[in-house]
Amino acid sequence: MENKIKKNISEIQDQINFFAKKYQRDSKEINLIAVSKYHTTESIKAAYECGIENFGENYIQEWQKKHTALNNLPNIKWHLIGHIQSNKAKYINSNIHCIHSIDKLNLAKEIEKKSNIDSNLKIKALVQLQIDKNDKNKSGISFENAKELCSYIVQSKKMKFAGFMGIGPEETNKDYLRKSYEVFAKNSESLWQSCADNSKEKYILSLGMSSDYEIAIEHGSTLLRIGTAIFGKKK
Ligand SMILES: *Cc1c(COP(=O)(O)O)cnc(C)c1O
Repeated sequence: MENKIKKNISEIQDQINFFAKKYQRDSKEINLIAVSKYHTTESIKAAYECGIENFGENYIQEWQKKHTALNNLPNIKWHLIGHIQSNKAKYINSNIHCIHSIDKLNLAKEIEKKSNIDSNLKIKALVQLQIDKNDKNKSGISFENAKELCSYIVQSKKMKFAGFMGIGPEETNKDYLRKSYEVFAKNSESLWQSCADNSKEKYILSLGMSSDYEIAIEHGSTLLRIGTAIFGKKK
């Protein structure tokens, strides 16, 4: 298992470098999160030993357990990438490096009120922007509603507005995906320019999973969230 994880990571890193060249991107600007939901702390350690420091978890309770178990890994950074119910906002604290899934004004407000974040250690927050209105999972906030949310986060004392996250549609038609990601990147750029107080700085574009990371790199992703291709299928 550990050897398989090592082999997978090294293959993905080669692929990232290859795609970076292909799409004239600087590979240093493309970071990798290992999405470890449902996978064991042993698997996480194996990935950490290969130099992976960023891990993504979907469920707050599962993250809490893993955070406690792996507290001895000095450079580990936790990303909360799954849908968060507003009533879970109180469990969010500065041990989380970045939240990817802020998709509602109400959730942002609950985090502002209830979370346990020290204002000196604001956590990075990404707005989860809808990619495809027709996607049956309908995840993310629409472009039309996102501006109010982005502006709220900019004013936050707990969160630092750092960019955008998108989950690609289940659609497998490559041209359709390309078109969708192009619009997503354009919408992100426009929201960043109109809302961020540091709009000259670079922002995070969290886009691309095991099955679509080539197209995500083509469209400017700076943060890939890869689970299955690293850890295998969940048990
Ligand atoms: C599970 C998950 C991933 C990883 O997906 P894979 O297809 O296993 O690479 C990425 N992002 C989110 C939001 C996820 O829930």
